Amino acid sequence: MNSAAPEELGVAEIGRALRVGRFSSAELTQHLLTGLASHSDLGAVLASDPGKALDQARAADAALARGVAGPLTGVPLAHKDIFVTDHARTGLASTAGSKMLAGYASPFDATVVARLAVAGTVTLAKLNCDEFAMGSSNENSAFGAVRNPWDAQRVPGGSSGGSAAAVAARLVPAATGTDTGGSIRQPASFCGITGIKPTYGVCSRYGMIAFASSLDQAGPMARSAEDCALLLSAMSGFDERDATSAERPPQDYHALMMQPRAGASAARPLKGLRIGLPREFFPAALAADVNAAVRAALAELEHLGATLVDVSLPRTELSIPVYYIIAPAEASSNLGRFDGVKFGHRAAQYTDLMDMYKKTRSEGFGPEVKRRIMIGTYVLSHGYYDAYYLQAQKLRRMIADDFQACFSQGPQGCDVIAGPVAPTVAWKIGEQGDDPLQAYLADIFTLPASLAGLPGMSVPAGFGVSGESKGMPVGLQLIGNYFDEATLLQTAHALQQATDFHTRRPL
Ligand code: GLN
Repeated sequence: MNSAAPEELGVAEIGRALRVGRFSSAELTQHLLTGLASHSDLGAVLASDPGKALDQARAADAALARGVAGPLTGVPLAHKDIFVTDHARTGLASTAGSKMLAGYASPFDATVVARLAVAGTVTLAKLNCDEFAMGSSNENSAFGAVRNPWDAQRVPGGSSGGSAAAVAARLVPAATGTDTGGSIRQPASFCGITGIKPTYGVCSRYGMIAFASSLDQAGPMARSAEDCALLLSAMSGFDERDATSAERPPQDYHALMMQPRAGASAARPLKGLRIGLPREFFPAALAADVNAAVRAALAELEHLGATLVDVSLPRTELSIPVYYIIAPAEASSNLGRFDGVKFGHRAAQYTDLMDMYKKTRSEGFGPEVKRRIMIGTYVLSHGYYDAYYLQAQKLRRMIADDFQACFSQGPQGCDVIAGPVAPTVAWKIGEQGDDPLQAYLADIFTLPASLAGLPGMSVPAGFGVSGESKGMPVGLQLIGNYFDEATLLQTAHALQQATDFHTRRPL
């Protein structure tokens, strides 16, 4: 039996330890709650209700005692605070990292949260994120920055920065995240953990506070591909309450991931897998340490039987302007609901209705959210719609077509596309100052898959070895064809059987 300290165990290991009675869910929950409280300097946790968490843990222990436990029964985890959580059940507010929703008590659970609860998980906490998931560094949260556990002077990435930091720091074995343009993959990369954004439509968006509805997807963030597979199986599936939910039968990603490939052997589990390397993902400006770690991971995948092939995604650079038109356009519309009438913050003093709207929104939203609302309103306005929004939509289609050209060339095509997640390791807190463009440009490798709606994953690939990057985690990005999460998980799992980067932890 694994004798590691409980906080060192992953999701699958905790499930096993609970079922053999090494500890109870209530004991583990108490242990992790103590850890959460003593790591408040990280800034990862926005809310936790120990009493309600222990209630859930005791219910899981009862299920374990009755012998009706599944792989996730009694496993504690935490949710990015972009998911609404039933306040009566969890005792937790749902804020989206915004002053606008400070203290907001949701009357229901997001579908993803509800499904993980039905699977028996225990909600330990809500985790910090960039306001309305807008950002790449978690510095845009109204409730303060999150620190990277590998170097407290650095950002954890964003917008799911609290989730990534909490998993990396061993506060929780896993967390939920959301990814609109990279917010699962980039913080996973910056914090040295594993995260997967499934195909658009795989996880329900019901109860996920909306940023850009045609891009937003939920996914798990954990230490290993195996843990992500277990969580994704529970989180995903058709939901009639989300009109964009994919109507497909439930998937057992863990079983699919473990299925051996045709012709594969123990030494060469990835035999027959063709991995495309887009030349645009390896520009001269890529940080040398990122390039080295990613290349080493690719060499390992080759060693495990995969074949590396050159491909091209010629519109990679265009994904930045395209995304930063479409995402703000959708955000400006989605955020119209925060007007002081129904939810959250309302200005204390105002003269008339218009004044109430203005004051409420001026006070409730932070600077990045206001910037996006203004950009979005501008690109949708009469006279500019055709020049910006419509052009961006056309290019979005072409970006998706470029991926299909890589995937569907018969024997010449590839099954998976790989490259870096981000051009650099995590940067220093405050380093980008007042220049939001710096952060936008750093999204270059995650945006294309988001715009195409394809599944993407970040897998720990190594660490920086020199200068400023030294000791900071580097992630390998894997992008798959629609609904082919299983091949991404299988590829990542094979890499994790052969390397130990995903087991390393910050001191
Ligand atoms: N960094 C991107 C942005 O700021 C992506 C955020 C996300 O995926 N939620 O919009």
